[in-house]
Amino acid sequence: MKIGYIGIGIMGLPMAGNLLKAGHSLYIHNRTLSKCDSLAAQGATVCASPAEVAENAEVVFINVPDTPDVEQVIFGSNGISQSARAGLTVIDNSTISPSTTRQFAERLQDKGVEYLDAPVSGGDVGAQKGTLAIMVGGDEHVFQKCLPLLEILGSKIVRVGPVGMGQTTKACNQLFCALHMLACCEGISLARKAGLDPAVMVNVVSSGAGGSWALANLGPKIVADDLDPGFMIDLLCKDLRLVMELAQEAELSLSGINLAQGLFNKAQAEGLGRLGTQALCRVVGKSDSLNA
Ligand code: NAP
Repeated sequence: MKIGYIGIGIMGLPMAGNLLKAGHSLYIHNRTLSKCDSLAAQGATVCASPAEVAENAEVVFINVPDTPDVEQVIFGSNGISQSARAGLTVIDNSTISPSTTRQFAERLQDKGVEYLDAPVSGGDVGAQKGTLAIMVGGDEHVFQKCLPLLEILGSKIVRVGPVGMGQTTKACNQLFCALHMLACCEGISLARKAGLDPAVMVNVVSSGAGGSWALANLGPKIVADDLDPGFMIDLLCKDLRLVMELAQEAELSLSGINLAQGLFNKAQAEGLGRLGTQALCRVVGKSDSLNA
């Protein structure tokens, strides 16, 4: 198929690369065009704008940071909607607002363009290996049509409901990620202060009921003070803003994630935003953390 991919970043680069390796013709665009160089060397066609991508492709994927970025890609000058025609399908892999996603889909529907929100989980490693979890919102017939493409990118692909529900699922996922990370940082901090080797604790607890993906994968990094991203604190702060907006719309008070959001925002304010989420360990386990 002729596939478009817009947003060639930490996630987009390996995901688009897997579509190319699977034998599809790939049309790509990124704001900083030089990020397209490595895929171009493998045979992808670099386009000057999202409109040019949509002109060439049957299905266009988007993978950019936040809600206004997706809006710019679709509806901005030289956006997808400028050249969109009936029959085009847009699949958004970004993590953005569920309610705004529904508005985007409605605006595109007027042009006969179909839409799936398909945010992913599994990090850059899952993107490289093609083993992402993909939570998809959209019509069943669009989902079935696009499933073979999604199966190239992920190993767990679930249609969770109509448009917007993929993003709603991802918000729940991010709530878990933030609370698990807070638990990891506090547990490792407690082990250290109590005179226990934190690496030994992480090793055994990872296999018990207190274990989690975060503890198994990022616990050893916290112990080794390896704070490189993975997934940046800046992006998690964006996601926790989306979680809190969703909770507000649902008129739900969530005290645990409210506390975690305060701590991640504190880490961001202290200049740790470009580090991995495990850098939360720099602000928890300190006597002033309760005042965050
Ligand atoms: P990233 O490395 O910052 O990549 C985003 C890319 O989008 C950048 O290359 C950026 O280009 C490009 N971009 C931004 N606005 C654009 C526009 N208007 N037109 C064209 N290109 C544009 O971020 P990422 O880590 O891949 O994350 C992307 C999305 O996936 C986010 O919503 C994130 O929450 C989600 N996600 C990330 C992970 C992870 O582990 N990283 C895991 C799951 C989900 P520039 O170089 O010009 O800035």
